[in-house]
Amino acid sequence: MDRPETTFPLDAPIAAAARAVEPRVVAWRRDIHQHPELGNREVRTSALVAQHLRSLGIEVREKVAHTGVVGVLRGGRPGPVVALRADMDALPVTEEVDLPFKSTVRTEWNGMSCGVMHACGHDAHTAILMGVAEVLAGLRDRLPGTVKFLFQPAEEGAPGDEEGGARLMIEQGCMDDPKVGAVFGLHVTSNHPTGMLGYRSGAMMASSDELRVFLRGVQTHGAMPWRGADPIVVGSQVVVGLQTIVSRRLDITHEPSVVTIGVFQGGNRVNIIPDEVKLEGTIRAFDEGQRGEIHAHVKRITEMIAAAGGAKADVRIRRGYDVVVNDPALTDWSVPVLKRVAGDSNVGIVDKVCGAEDFSFYQKVVPGFFFRVGCTPPDRDLRTAAPNHSPRLFVDEACLPQGVRALATLAAGWLSGPHA
Ligand SMILES: [Zn+2]
Ligand SMILES: [Zn+2]
Repeated sequence: MDRPETTFPLDAPIAAAARAVEPRVVAWRRDIHQHPELGNREVRTSALVAQHLRSLGIEVREKVAHTGVVGVLRGGRPGPVVALRADMDALPVTEEVDLPFKSTVRTEWNGMSCGVMHACGHDAHTAILMGVAEVLAGLRDRLPGTVKFLFQPAEEGAPGDEEGGARLMIEQGCMDDPKVGAVFGLHVTSNHPTGMLGYRSGAMMASSDELRVFLRGVQTHGAMPWRGADPIVVGSQVVVGLQTIVSRRLDITHEPSVVTIGVFQGGNRVNIIPDEVKLEGTIRAFDEGQRGEIHAHVKRITEMIAAAGGAKADVRIRRGYDVVVNDPALTDWSVPVLKRVAGDSNVGIVDKVCGAEDFSFYQKVVPGFFFRVGCTPPDRDLRTAAPNHSPRLFVDEACLPQGVRALATLAAGWLSGPHA
């Protein structure tokens, strides 16, 4: 990986092919946008993807991790295997952007009726990767190796108790046969203007774990608290106690982290002290060691505060997504490629994000590089651009051909570059 390239023979044909496929990428994106599907329910989307890949002569495996599609494009010459990933799922959000292809799809979510929207831009990711497949299939004779296309369901999390997403794709063999050597992925973001590509070496996005605490006290009359053990008072102390983990226990000069309680439930009447209180929250970290420390502190602080108040604590932490860590060597190799695609001044280092991404699981198997693609029209104010997951997220379609070029050039370059 120490052979920096300044030119690459496939740059020009990839750029031309990306331009040629642009109208279709836009059309796919609009079609997918108008027909969004929630995680593990991407039936229509994955059928569209599978049909397109087959039409290009790409080997297709369907129903991977429920609704995922894995495509294998074997190049004209032998070589390593590179994987490109796009997520396909939408969110239970009611669209407020006034587009001719606005989503009017509705669903039931947590017992309530709501809309479905590609509020995280995964419609753009899917359309971009379909475009990349077309570009690279047209150049297959010149590819020294194999490109694997990972169209992944349920990045936002599988519904209910279902399994899903990157973890299940890997369990079901998407990184094997043929064995993948590196993985690339992108995400559109309204934090940056169209034309900008952002990256970060090392930790880029946080791990995300769910916290559930049940505090069992002793029910009593609100006028006679001494006859019971009040889980509401204990719960309040636990909330405050947990805030001392980041502020007092962790070396914040190493990495930032977050502990948030988002749910505090208990009681149903002004003068009754309830038996039990439930707390729920989220834990974000950028370092595996600190993530483990936080878990231990959460357990100890909660149990000891509960014991001091005469209550019992049941602490449950469900590990969610791992930290998105861009392999430093692969990042060093990828950045010049992005600069060839976007221009030197349009590629920059971005801040860490406390959001999570299950792209991290692929990066645990092989070196991976995840980057951001700006999608806010340059004439709009970035400070007021609606963020990802907003009902008002707006994706400037001018970012699509850039995404196609970036992923296609990374894949073709990686097959020919570090391994040549
Ligand atoms: Zn999202
Ligand atoms: Zn997303």
